[in-house]
Amino acid sequence: MVKVSTKLVTWDEIVEWSMGLARVIKESSFKPDVVVAVSRGGYVPARLICDFLLVENLVSIQSQHWTEAAKVAERAIIKFPYTLDLSGQRVLLVDDIIDTGDTVILARDFILSEWKPAELRVAALQWISPVAKIKPDFYYIEVKEWIWFQYPWTRHEDTVQFVRRILLEEKERRREWTYDEIRAAFEESYGIFVGDAYFRLALETLVELGVLERRGDVYVVRVT
Ligand code: AMP
Repeated sequence: MVKVSTKLVTWDEIVEWSMGLARVIKESSFKPDVVVAVSRGGYVPARLICDFLLVENLVSIQSQHWTEAAKVAERAIIKFPYTLDLSGQRVLLVDDIIDTGDTVILARDFILSEWKPAELRVAALQWISPVAKIKPDFYYIEVKEWIWFQYPWTRHEDTVQFVRRILLEEKERRREWTYDEIRAAFEESYGIFVGDAYFRLALETLVELGVLERRGDVYVVRVT
């Protein structure tokens, strides 16, 4: 069975961490004119930072990992490379977590060369220091051992993926599961529980995606 050390992050923690990050920024005396959220993970923290620092201008840039069909290596891409004129502006680029650092580095370099701000600083709620290729100018939590942070804004997506992974991994050994059995396997693999509402929604989605078939109280993994 897969085992991934995972921490379930609550909305309250997000508010606390974002407020803490805003304080770090404030104490540095850096006053951003524009906040740029790295989409999609940076959206919520960026919005909260705008609130705590009373910044009116918020835009976003979608930088994400992209698996190219024929290549094993992943690389980051800017999904919608539009242009903005940020000359003379002080920019704060905000993300949820800096893991490898690839997405934020790409976003930073794109903004510097295409949007040409007067200044740009990078902020993240969390920074995984042993693996990250960059250290953000501002962060709230330094993570010293890699784990997966299950943020509230990817709760559904993560639950779908995690359950799918378990079911497909166990496919040769078993096909039929009850709700409680899937839930127990999920807790054994990830050490967290996302709540019944999210869990039921994930199973419903897996039925819609054709991974599972529901027969009364039993979920059957479909052979593809
Ligand atoms: P990276 O380019 O590796 O720094 O990470 C890109 C994005 O993937 C981050 O902004 C997060 O949204 C997500 N991510 C990467 N690592 C983690 C992690 N350990 N926990 C939760 N989300 C992560």
